[in-house]
Amino acid sequence: MAKKGRVFSGARPTGRQHLGNYLGAIKNYVAMQNDYECVYCIVDVHALTTVETTQELKQNTFEMALDWLAAGIRPEESILFVQSHVPEVMELHTYLSMVTQFGKLTDLPTFKEKVRQQPENINYGLVGYPVLMTADIVLYKTDVVPVGIDQAPHIEFAREIVRSFNYRYKTKVLIEPQVKHTEVLKVVGLDGKDKMGKSLNNHIELASTPEETVKRVKEMVTDPARLRRTDPGNPDICNVFTMHKLFSPQEEVDMVNTECRKAGIGCVDCKLRFANNLNKHLEPFRAKRAELASNPNNIQDILNDGAKRARAIAQQTMVEVREAMQLP
Ligand code: SF4
Repeated sequence: MAKKGRVFSGARPTGRQHLGNYLGAIKNYVAMQNDYECVYCIVDVHALTTVETTQELKQNTFEMALDWLAAGIRPEESILFVQSHVPEVMELHTYLSMVTQFGKLTDLPTFKEKVRQQPENINYGLVGYPVLMTADIVLYKTDVVPVGIDQAPHIEFAREIVRSFNYRYKTKVLIEPQVKHTEVLKVVGLDGKDKMGKSLNNHIELASTPEETVKRVKEMVTDPARLRRTDPGNPDICNVFTMHKLFSPQEEVDMVNTECRKAGIGCVDCKLRFANNLNKHLEPFRAKRAELASNPNNIQDILNDGAKRARAIAQQTMVEVREAMQLP
């Protein structure tokens, strides 16, 4: 079946992936392979804007690739590669930076947020982050970028940079990427309030053992009004129930919905049921992951092959870019 175009998406190497990553991105990456030619990039260079040591970068990249592949990224169809393995992106980033106004970059809410988060390390790379992101996208002649509604302005900014470049050099060589709105689930962590993430240690890793998963689920915060087993609860405000809806069979969801409200089920039992359903859901993922992990060289080969294919596209784009710029 003919594909609808090329999709690009990148994510920082954060190591072993958690449920938030899975529901918010990976699941969608896997599904998009059916309709699009997909280019998925582990953006290690972007990570350098915030990390101070690169000690764990390699391992985190490996673990992330492992999880993506185990979850269903098909490397024989999609291109899976590491950003720094295609150095052309740095060159394009430099050229694009010449057509991007500095003031616009420093005005972006994402930059201001980073300044608040790491006032000790406001580096040049941090300012140019959206330019590098644009280079990532356009280098691979991307048609669409999947983003949640809140990230759409980033792509609009990338489109502006592309227009600026094409206008300056009177060319159409760079393609303005289109936004593909995806429903990005905001997965709440074990604390029941913040977004699931490693930095808050409120996450459940996909690759945890079933026992570790049960232990983590037991830590989940439930309806705070339910102090005693005999108190009725409200599943509508309970994160365990939200998770049930994502991983449990409908009859069990209905049962929890009814019984919780009349204290017919206790939170311990309810969590255990969810943990068991989650473990069941993750069984094939974990089996595939173990199989892949038994041959680490294979993961490296997949990433090398992805870089080779990505680079072939990138080199062609750069020939056209340099020609358009009339570089000597
Ligand atoms: Fe939440 Fe389940 Fe407890 Fe109800 S019974 S408050 S849904 S954990």
